[in-house]
Amino acid sequence: MTITRDDVLAWLKAYAVALAENREYLTQLDAAIGDADHGQNMDRGFKAVLAKLPSVAESDIGTILKTAGMTLVSTVGGAGGPLYGTLFMQAGMVTAGKNELAPADVVALFDAGLKGVVMRGKAVLGDKTMVDAITPAVERLRAVVDGGGDLAEGLRQAAAAAEAGMQATIPLVARKGRASYLGERSAGHQDPGATSSYLLFKTAADTWASADQ
Ligand code: ADP
Ligand code: MG
Repeated sequence: MTITRDDVLAWLKAYAVALAENREYLTQLDAAIGDADHGQNMDRGFKAVLAKLPSVAESDIGTILKTAGMTLVSTVGGAGGPLYGTLFMQAGMVTAGKNELAPADVVALFDAGLKGVVMRGKAVLGDKTMVDAITPAVERLRAVVDGGGDLAEGLRQAAAAAEAGMQATIPLVARKGRASYLGERSAGHQDPGATSSYLLFKTAADTWASADQ
């Protein structure tokens, strides 16, 4: 199974749609433990990414992802924009010059994105952030692909792992970002960034499940 440039463009578009559809949901989650802007931030950022995609439609996958990342950094304030911006910029670095991705390249894409988020935000597993959804997703994806499994199956399992990681943020006390200002009162609420990160893997799984085998 190979992921083409058009598959990558379709994934970014599907993520933009998912963020628009979940805008109120993400904002409600952020209202409980943050400043009620995560839905607007992500929706605004990906609408800006969508507007940029025609200019890179003929470019390599690395350029497309780097452009998405730079657009997020320049259009989204707060923590989420720079963190997702770094995720996509780092994903673009490891896919530079590629017009197709083999399964191992897809693992490298998400792994680099996670490392970028960790480098930028310094969160560790259990801090109640997007890292709690992305880390298990990357681990699952790598395990399936390294075991010779199908990429589509790896992505489905990665999305399920991200969802479990997202749900596991509910009882946690936040140690990074705005939610950490609440201390113990942040427990009992699902982290908004972990939720948008689950949607990132869910849309990859849904979009690429039917990609050319
Ligand atoms: P802000 O908190 O500035 O309003 P957003 O609401 O867009 O930004 O994003 C909040 C999300 O960002 C949180 O739910 C969390 O998942 C994520 N986040 C915040 N700080 C960090 C960090 N240091 N590392 C990783 N993720 C973080
Ligand atoms: Mg916020």
